[in-house]
Amino acid sequence: MTPIYLDNQATTPLAPEAFDAMLPWLRDNFGNPHSSHVMGRRAAAAVEVAREQVAALLPKNGRVIFTGSATEAINLAMGAARTQQGRDQIAIIDTEHAAVRDTALWYRTQGFETTLLPVDADGLIVLEELEAYLGQKTALVGAMLVNNEIGTIQPVEQITEMAHRAGALMLCDAVQGFGRIDLPQQADLIALSGHKVYGPKGIGALWVRDGIKVPPLIHGGGQEQGIRSGTLSPALCAGLGVAAKLCAERREADWVHIAALADKARSLFGAWTVNGSLNQRYPGNLNIRRDGLDVGRLMSDVRGVAFSAGSACASGSGRPSHVLAALGLQPAQIKSSIRLGFGRYTSIEEVEQAAHLINQAAENQLS
Ligand code: PLP
Repeated sequence: MTPIYLDNQATTPLAPEAFDAMLPWLRDNFGNPHSSHVMGRRAAAAVEVAREQVAALLPKNGRVIFTGSATEAINLAMGAARTQQGRDQIAIIDTEHAAVRDTALWYRTQGFETTLLPVDADGLIVLEELEAYLGQKTALVGAMLVNNEIGTIQPVEQITEMAHRAGALMLCDAVQGFGRIDLPQQADLIALSGHKVYGPKGIGALWVRDGIKVPPLIHGGGQEQGIRSGTLSPALCAGLGVAAKLCAERREADWVHIAALADKARSLFGAWTVNGSLNQRYPGNLNIRRDGLDVGRLMSDVRGVAFSAGSACASGSGRPSHVLAALGLQPAQIKSSIRLGFGRYTSIEEVEQAAHLINQAAENQLS
């Protein structure tokens, strides 16, 4: 039996329209988009259509570089810190995804000083701390738009303004917000991922503002304007392009649907406490806890619902959540947290049924 899928922050199902757009490039049109003959040119044209579709959701004064994942896009973006003469400091929010956090921490081995900026109990950045931190040595600031664990929406426009005033570059990890909420128009670098927006896995993109230099991580044939060598997959590009277009077209409808699911879920999980901001939050994410609960046991008792332990980071590495810890939650509270993720294809009946199963198992455990 297929479980009820409530893990849309881990990945989203592929939109049928994206699947249809990918098929011809997997089957008959197998040309290399970098070949100059007719089959290559056809494939290249599909890649460029996809690039335009993705670019349509991003600020106008920049370019889209396709990558293999958002993690790769973020690693690529952070290299821009090296181009900032006389600046050797990187600052990110303490609750960033491992793709940003671990990359920023790795830069410590490259002579950079990396700072993790604190958040308040709601998971929102403390802007005064950022202001006090920023200075002539800051090369790059990294901030996520929507947190993957708790759904908190960070004030990225404001963070960008502050970073720019100090002369630093601004990287926004927009993976969980792309196609859903407004992007920071002044950011220098924006990373996104195909499989979080109802597109395929194995593709991401980095948007780079005109004039910003990004040193390549992968060397070779000089594809993607010399920034990211390697043959592109027209199928993956086409899938991401159509997924992005759909997100734009359905933004309002998706939001209304997901907000209704969230309202329903909040009422059904009234005995639980919400982790993270109640208002500054993407409604498709509900991270909740119930004191005394053993979430490992809960997950094995409720096999009919695919959801995440709030305490495990999205990569499933089993590392305890640095995000919930940054909010000031105690280890026992972290271990009693779960994350429910709703999406475009989740129905209200599924939310009701899942809430029934989860609440029943929780009651059995606590009684
Ligand atoms: N950033 C955030 C906020 C994410 O949620 C994820 C995936 O979980 C990533 C980055 C990494 O994306 P990808 O799986 O495309 O590497």
